Amino acid sequence: MPDFIPINQWYSHMREPLIIAGPCSAESEAQVLQTAHAIAQSERVSAFRAGVWKPRTRPGGFEGAGVEALRWLQRAKRETGLRICTEVALPEHVRMAVEHGVDMVWIGARTAANPFSIDMLAAELAKADIPVLVKNPVTPDLNLWIGAIERLARANVRKLAAVHRGFYPYAQSQLRNIPKWEIPIDLRSRMPQLPIIGDPSHIAGRANLVTEVAQHALNLSFDGLMVEVHPCPTEALSDARQQLSLGDFATMLNNLRFPAASSTDSHYINLIEQARSSIDSIDTQILELLSNRMRLIEQIGRCKRSNNVTVVQQQRWERIRESRTELGKKLGLREEYIVRLLELVHKESIKRQAEIIRNENDEA
Ligand code: PEP
Ligand code: MN
Repeated sequence: MPDFIPINQWYSHMREPLIIAGPCSAESEAQVLQTAHAIAQSERVSAFRAGVWKPRTRPGGFEGAGVEALRWLQRAKRETGLRICTEVALPEHVRMAVEHGVDMVWIGARTAANPFSIDMLAAELAKADIPVLVKNPVTPDLNLWIGAIERLARANVRKLAAVHRGFYPYAQSQLRNIPKWEIPIDLRSRMPQLPIIGDPSHIAGRANLVTEVAQHALNLSFDGLMVEVHPCPTEALSDARQQLSLGDFATMLNNLRFPAASSTDSHYINLIEQARSSIDSIDTQILELLSNRMRLIEQIGRCKRSNNVTVVQQQRWERIRESRTELGKKLGLREEYIVRLLELVHKESIKRQAEIIRNENDEA
């Protein structure tokens, strides 16, 4: 896997975290220019987004203004100095975007799920040599997301970032798309060099929840945000409920905390170092205790074998579950956490005992 090029080397004056803002769709020249000028007031904003080809769930809605809108974006770039960014789903979109000075593109959640589409786009994007943001596919399948990124990287697209826009909620939910934060966190550990950008607008689905989701993404050390902003959200032709007004966007940027990856404050460093060394020692103790526990499990396994008793003892397991979650709660630990942990320990114990019995049967 080739190295990814970090955001600050994509273009000069790219601020980090990378803030991209603009309407869901480019609707008119006036709407594009008004939004671009407003967001350019903040020094934190590096790029203007607007969809010009819109993938709608059902046909018949507003499907974007097409090439004409690219000229509005180009004018916004000229007048504000912002980088411009749009969605591409077909190789011809890439060609037209590049012809009109588009600086970055994103691949939408529906397209990211299709390996054939990604391969076709990858060939065109490699020629274009512009940064590509890959939204997560709508289903919570990390490998499908990684697969799209790998296909692009293999085609030699190296200015890449992932965009976390949440996953289709199969159950009733306050948010439009379920964040499942563990998935972008897993992505970070699988591809540590890959920048991850949060899309709080598509996760939240409602303007009043966007700031909270954006803050959470920053707290998890995401490398940027892509936020939908519209001069008059209620009249937007797509995603009306989730777009921030120009004023609310400015307020959000003022209120967000932008935590740094680290600090040079000596008090901070001392405290963190002490706590980490205690944690290292606690982890060692946890592992030693788990190992002691396993030795006892093995003893029990052999004893069950010689007395012809079954491995799984349902009542005993239920008592363990109850008493440990009760104790966990008293110690301030969430029930779900304790239950998951116990289940893991229990399963491993059963596996070990079954192995012992099998081996002894083999020997007998
Ligand atoms: C968008 O950014 O407007 C969009 C269509 O996003 P997604 O592909 O994440 O639904
Ligand atoms: Mn949208």
